[in-house]
Amino acid sequence: MRDARSFVRPRRRTRAIKVGSVQVGGDAPITVQSMTTTKTHDVDGTLAQVYALAGAGADLVRITCNTVEAAQGLAEIVPRSPVPIIADIHFQYRLALAALESGVCGLRLNPGNIRRPSHIKEVARAAAERQVPIRVGVNAGSLDKDILGRHGDATPEALVESALLEIRYLEEVDFYDIKISVKHSHVPTMIESYRLLSDEVDYPLHLGVTEAGPPPGGLIKSVAGISTLLMEGIGDTIRFSLTADPVVEAESGRRLLEYLGLRERRSLDLIACPSCGRAEVDVIEVAQVAQEALEKENLPIQVAVMGCVVNGPGEARSADLGIAAGRGRGHLFIKGEVVAVVPESEMVEALVSEGRRLVEEGVEARLAAADLSAAKEAEADRLRLLDIQPEANSAAERRQRVEIIARGAKT
Ligand code: SF4
Repeated sequence: MRDARSFVRPRRRTRAIKVGSVQVGGDAPITVQSMTTTKTHDVDGTLAQVYALAGAGADLVRITCNTVEAAQGLAEIVPRSPVPIIADIHFQYRLALAALESGVCGLRLNPGNIRRPSHIKEVARAAAERQVPIRVGVNAGSLDKDILGRHGDATPEALVESALLEIRYLEEVDFYDIKISVKHSHVPTMIESYRLLSDEVDYPLHLGVTEAGPPPGGLIKSVAGISTLLMEGIGDTIRFSLTADPVVEAESGRRLLEYLGLRERRSLDLIACPSCGRAEVDVIEVAQVAQEALEKENLPIQVAVMGCVVNGPGEARSADLGIAAGRGRGHLFIKGEVVAVVPESEMVEALVSEGRRLVEEGVEARLAAADLSAAKEAEADRLRLLDIQPEANSAAERRQRVEIIARGAKT
């Protein structure tokens, strides 16, 4: 199969910036961000969440810096964090200066609520001294009132104008370590805003649908907006803004990049057929049990659970490993080749133990160790099942039916 990255439009060329040890933009992999929900002055609670987010796939974590105590908390959190920390600043530019003093690796400023150019420039000079980048984080919900008045609404043009104005203040003091976001909760508006912005600047872009809400709606909106842009080659770092445990945000962001082929697979990808009248097992239940059991093993492979042996192994041929049900048994297959036939009650167990071996020994070794009689047994099961459930997609049968209908229509 072709490298999935070749299906994505060439990535737009952006400047590279460094957020601590993590590069954003340039030729760096697209990164995942999330944000803590704890009170920042609760140092241990916040650190525990930062570790959970890093474990779930966050490359960068943002923490609010909304009080003096929060800034003090950051001074203790930053040196103990496993990933670079970005301080989120609203309204008080002095808290941006305090966050820089606490050692954060990045700042996020909202142009809508730090208004005075002199304040923005003072923060930029202090950030430049420490080589800390700034994200210009424009948000439809807190757009500058003048800009909003001129455009009549938080249109893509209004969001981009707000970002460009803020960037001009930063550039006026020779500050260029910038990344930008133009977030909106309406997915098409968000997409168009980033498209317009990407035509104007070469700074790296942070993608997100703001206030996306709880899953499943929030997840769907985030995936729709972020994926569309990533497939167009736009975007250097992403955040899912969900009304949910932020671990879900980080994990979802990471998985999205894996599914688009933009980051290496490091977690399980369980695929399963949607089930239909041909299913020989309760596919939903087997898939759920298999997912839980395999996730505990933390195996970075694609595993398929298919409801019947008639179509299952063929349809899931690209999966590393899979199981298909038929006549009380499970056909275990690797890359579409049946390697064992097991009782239905042992299907999940067989998937887990073969998954472990597959990761340890590799596909070639496991195919070589296959039970030679399994393929024959499996084919016999398949043919017996075909007698009961004739091939639904048979072209010959279909042609015959089409002919009968067509001739009938003529007469
Ligand atoms: S694999 Fe079998 S059970 Fe599952 S959807 Fe396809 S035909 Fe139906």
